[in-house]
Amino acid sequence: MADGFFSRLRDGLLKSRQHLSGMVDDAVQEHAAVDEDFYDSLLDALILSDMGAACAQEALQTLRARVKAGGIKDTARCRELLKDILVSMLDAEKMPLQWPMVILMVGVNGVGKTTTIGKLALRFQALGRIIMLCAADTFRAAAAEQLAIWADRAKVPLVRHQENADPAGVVFDAVQAAKARHVDLLIVDTAGRLHNKKNLMDEMEKMRRVIDREHPTATVRCLLVVDATTGQNGLQQAKAFSEVAGVNGIVLTKLDGTAKGGVIFPIVRELKVPVLYVGVGEGIDDLQSFDAREYVAALFE
Ligand code: GDP
Repeated sequence: MADGFFSRLRDGLLKSRQHLSGMVDDAVQEHAAVDEDFYDSLLDALILSDMGAACAQEALQTLRARVKAGGIKDTARCRELLKDILVSMLDAEKMPLQWPMVILMVGVNGVGKTTTIGKLALRFQALGRIIMLCAADTFRAAAAEQLAIWADRAKVPLVRHQENADPAGVVFDAVQAAKARHVDLLIVDTAGRLHNKKNLMDEMEKMRRVIDREHPTATVRCLLVVDATTGQNGLQQAKAFSEVAGVNGIVLTKLDGTAKGGVIFPIVRELKVPVLYVGVGEGIDDLQSFDAREYVAALFE
């Protein structure tokens, strides 16, 4: 991970580091023995980082088991063990990139979906891939407008229809265009409305059916964008979306803001899908592949 990116992630997580790293350091310094008091301090630190009680308890249970198995008496050693445990809680198998690919982007409005689409387009374009965007959020004219700005910036084609057009119809046209132009990656922006789950589910299914039928050789992935600053709320959104959309991976945005980075743990635990990318700013370079070890290091150092 580039230094600049890593330091931005670290700066962004400063707030949680003051909670997590600072509190863990305090616990280590204030407790000479690995006792119940020490474990309680660690639990508080983990919960305050937005990790949620269930995840924090799971991490501590593992720590207790390792302390027991290793006969560990040193609280500083526990800090290092805890880091390893947190890394393993986030570690998930990376999905192979198989071309051609269609990515359906989901997430509520405002989480950074459009920005992430733009960043992904530029990222894969820089790797020599042929990219196309599809504006299937036809409920907000502004959504297609914003996407058009990113398409211009990345100099990639955008397929869009009139406002309120059938999203699956836009996807149909985009898939035809993508096949004709031998596009490697078609990124589809979808509507971020969760208030009517049945509608959203029907829409997603319809889009997937169109892609499967019209582009059977394409790998289809659904990426959920979550705003890290929304904490436990983001977790609830993530759960709701994963129920209706069949999510394969997560992009966690706005880790440069006031996010308390611990929210990532319950999201991975509950959804059982990997975090693939993290966003640390509004610029095109502010998206990076997720690395569990780097992430935990940024929380702790
Ligand atoms: P959408 O409604 O989900 O498509 O969200 P947008 O992509 O329009 O983003 C909403 C706002 O969040 C915009 O002001 C973006 O610049 C901002 N944003 C997106 N990603 C990030 C990020 O990683 N960090 C920060 N600080 N802002 C971001």
